[in-house]
Amino acid sequence: MPQAPDAKAAAAPATKAMSEPKPLKSTLNLPQTAFPMKANLPANEPLRLKAWEETDLYGQLRRASAGRPRYILHDGPPYANGAIHLGHALNKTLKDFVVKTRTMAGYDAPYVPGWDCHGLPIEIKVDEQLGRKKLEMDPVAVRKACREYAQKYLDLQREQFIRMGVFGRWQKPYSTMDAEYEARIAETFFHFFENGFVYKGLKPVSWCIHDRTALAEAEVEYVQHKSPSVYVRYKLTSDPAVIDPALAGKPVYTIIWTTTPWTLPASLAVAFHPEMEYVAINTPDAVYVVAQALLSSVIVHTHLMSAKKPAEPASDADILAVFKGDKLDGTTFAHPFLDRIVAGTNATYVTADQGTGAVHTAPAHGVDDFATGKRYSLPEVQYVDDAGRQMHTERFGGGVGQPYEGLSVWKANPVIIQLLKEKGALLAASEFEHSYPHCWRCHNPVIVRATEQWFIGMDTPMQAPDGSASTFRDRALAEITRVKWDPAWGQERITNMVATRPDWCISRQRIWGVPIAVFLCRKCGEPLKDAAINKRVVDLFMKESADAWYIRTPEEILPAGTKCGCGHTDFRKEMDILDVWFESGASSHAVLDVDADTKQAAGDKDQRADLYAEGGDQHRGWFMSSLLCGIGMHNRAPYKMVATYGWTLDEQGRALSKSLGNFIDPNLVMDSLGGDIVRLWVASVDFREDVVASMPLLKRLAEEIYRKQRNTFRFLLGALREIDLKTGEERAFDPRPISEGGESVPFEQMQPIDQYILARAAELTKKIRAAYDAMEFHRVYHLLNEFLNSELSAFYLDVLKDRLYTYPVKFKSGNEYQRELYIARRSAQTAIYKITDALARLTAPILTFTADEVWQYIPGKSGSVHLTLFPEPADLALTPIVEHTAEWDGIFALRDRVLARLEELRSKKQIGKSLEAAITVLVDDDAHLQSWEKYERALPELFNVSRVVVSKVNKAQTEIVPELEVKPTVENKCDRCWRHVPDVGQDTRYPSVCHRCVQALDAVDFPPYAATV
Ligand SMILES: [Zn+2]
Ligand SMILES: [Zn+2]
Ligand SMILES: [Zn+2]
Repeated sequence: MPQAPDAKAAAAPATKAMSEPKPLKSTLNLPQTAFPMKANLPANEPLRLKAWEETDLYGQLRRASAGRPRYILHDGPPYANGAIHLGHALNKTLKDFVVKTRTMAGYDAPYVPGWDCHGLPIEIKVDEQLGRKKLEMDPVAVRKACREYAQKYLDLQREQFIRMGVFGRWQKPYSTMDAEYEARIAETFFHFFENGFVYKGLKPVSWCIHDRTALAEAEVEYVQHKSPSVYVRYKLTSDPAVIDPALAGKPVYTIIWTTTPWTLPASLAVAFHPEMEYVAINTPDAVYVVAQALLSSVIVHTHLMSAKKPAEPASDADILAVFKGDKLDGTTFAHPFLDRIVAGTNATYVTADQGTGAVHTAPAHGVDDFATGKRYSLPEVQYVDDAGRQMHTERFGGGVGQPYEGLSVWKANPVIIQLLKEKGALLAASEFEHSYPHCWRCHNPVIVRATEQWFIGMDTPMQAPDGSASTFRDRALAEITRVKWDPAWGQERITNMVATRPDWCISRQRIWGVPIAVFLCRKCGEPLKDAAINKRVVDLFMKESADAWYIRTPEEILPAGTKCGCGHTDFRKEMDILDVWFESGASSHAVLDVDADTKQAAGDKDQRADLYAEGGDQHRGWFMSSLLCGIGMHNRAPYKMVATYGWTLDEQGRALSKSLGNFIDPNLVMDSLGGDIVRLWVASVDFREDVVASMPLLKRLAEEIYRKQRNTFRFLLGALREIDLKTGEERAFDPRPISEGGESVPFEQMQPIDQYILARAAELTKKIRAAYDAMEFHRVYHLLNEFLNSELSAFYLDVLKDRLYTYPVKFKSGNEYQRELYIARRSAQTAIYKITDALARLTAPILTFTADEVWQYIPGKSGSVHLTLFPEPADLALTPIVEHTAEWDGIFALRDRVLARLEELRSKKQIGKSLEAAITVLVDDDAHLQSWEKYERALPELFNVSRVVVSKVNKAQTEIVPELEVKPTVENKCDRCWRHVPDVGQDTRYPSVCHRCVQALDAVDFPPYAATV
């Protein structure tokens, strides 16, 4: 009597136990894996991070990449205040995708993260924290408080970025407040300064009276705002007959329209377009000159009455004369309430869009106004101080005791309107809502105000690299064309911005930053321009940080005997600091030029970084300042390519914000769903557009997409292990080739279906790598899911179960059939092994944690998946099976028909499982017979039926080639594999199983048993 294979069965009562199918079931090779179904990413990812840190994975990557071609993604520094938000997560994950994919494609792709640490937002926060205490503190102490504040958030954000699985030189990032970086900023500034790009001048700049500082272009945002709207008449004081003889001897006025009455005390001119038609219209009390195109609008707004019919509004019938605006050039007017002559001028920026065509001009309060003032040599009148108060009216001929003296510009508005009314100059006053510039830091409306500032002149002459004459602006425009912009509209955007931008105002009246470290002569006010002295300052900053500027006296820094050009020897330090955009723009010098980890190979001529990648709002910000600093330092753009991503919005297209309740904290997502879920979300969106995020969407990603991916990996890994029936031990597939004692089957000896799936995997590899190269991560996401779902889950892994579970795991020498079956099973495992290996590597940049976990469970792998390169298509399929494509198309078409017929039989209750069906494929000639016979073995597997016979019939009998016969089987069922085949019960040792299963049992010396009754 044979012994039952397991002890429990042996202990059971005699004959029954011997014939029970349970021991038979134990000989099936069901998937074995310790790879957990439940990911538990929030708990497991931090453990993996710790292991990466302990083994210095990033250091290993760097060493492994040494000598490969370089790929430099230069990190745009986030601002070090506050925790990270989803925009940061998108930013850093995209960069990490790029760095990881370039690394695995065989590049040396270092990543040096950076932080932007100086600037107003931090200084304001520190101001708030210090309160009144700040007044008693010296600048060095304030800077120290700012430094601590920035460091705190740098550390916090660093921890959060690491948690996301972003690889980089985290222990030594760059930071704009490092002493060396501060020194490099100064060095960059001196380079501009010494080469004549920098000037100090009075200029109207956007000014925040709340923060008392000048604002850069990028620091101004436009918001709807209510302003007063006033029509004011200016009396002509020159001879009206010069304009037109019809006006001789008449009282003539022009009318200006403004929404900033507070600028009227600085009104020095009225501008008219030289080419535009103006009319003189007669009213009961006076003649008014306005643009013809705006006449009816002016009549409506100011209620001008007709001179001819005084009870009716003025009309064309009241026009006394029509003339071009150039007739008004050189005229003079009286200021409406000050004792001042106002010049009639011409300017081409005057439009007929709104207003009157006569533009009130205050050179201190408008860029165009300033230009007109310069052309007409008007005095630079500035009444408004840095807090926005109307001051010193007596100094510029305003007389003493103006009612608005000392008031802020906003409070001065109604007072000035009242004054206009009293003087009889006000024709109309109302309110006007329009888009108005606001400070992006404090969100208060800003004003335009002329102040003394440092500038970089956009039209400074310079040479192009070929030696031809150019200007700074033209060089910038030329360099833009050498850069690849993705998406392409970025090029036009930045081109327009560079073409039209004013000179770069680089000074700020604050403390937390890098000073414009220039010495000014106390006698003549001129700056010292001496390269040797500048070098001393750079060296000093390098040693002591920019704090040195606040601690050291000029005498301590300057060499003894330093003299100004005027002969004077007493200097003061300029205490303005540099615009923070200059600081981050200088990273191309402070980081790319000097940090060994970010330099291109020594042979690379222009040393540009391969990629800058930030939000689409940075064309005005960091992309621009980097471009300008790059040209200033090296006469070239610092980048070869610029990629931009869109805004993160909710499903209704609204920005994510705490007040709307749709805010998503990426840290909470990582703590509840996992870092890989954040990464998977980033991969799922096309970053070039605005991207959508919501908590329900992220949860769906985790519960549907990620779980599906993980389960597929789990099945693949399970198929690579089996239980040794003799020892009861689990053993792993040995990926070495069979010829070397392992279990991998050479491609040409594999089953056709395994060759087919490997060819598909090779194709997938090619497509995914191309998508990675093009930074089309959403395409990778879709390709991957499509492959996992359609090719693997729904097809290959499903049809494979019979072979994997029931075929012999060993063979006895001399038993050819057994060996053949054994090889067929190893063929499937070989395919699965190669696919799992390839998928782990292809997904590693996105599923950074999970792919590494999978890697750990693949037999024969050690170390981290991140230390490997991407697979090549040729690693998977010897030759892509293009030549089989037509045949496989035919097979799949046939499969669809078979599945439909099986469903039909099932619904008629003629069969239960599809294994109860018998199928005959009828072909009509020898050629077809041959090609189908090749797949005869594969067809039952493909159709999930017990048996498929291919046979030849006469042409006349067939309609579709091949014709199909699908019938319920008449054969007995094998107790082990459940197939219905003719050879069940032929072997007396194993009476209830088929011939194929006999091989599986014989191979492991399964004890013989008696037939059941
Ligand atoms: Zn502000
Ligand atoms: Zn001097
Ligand atoms: Zn069987």
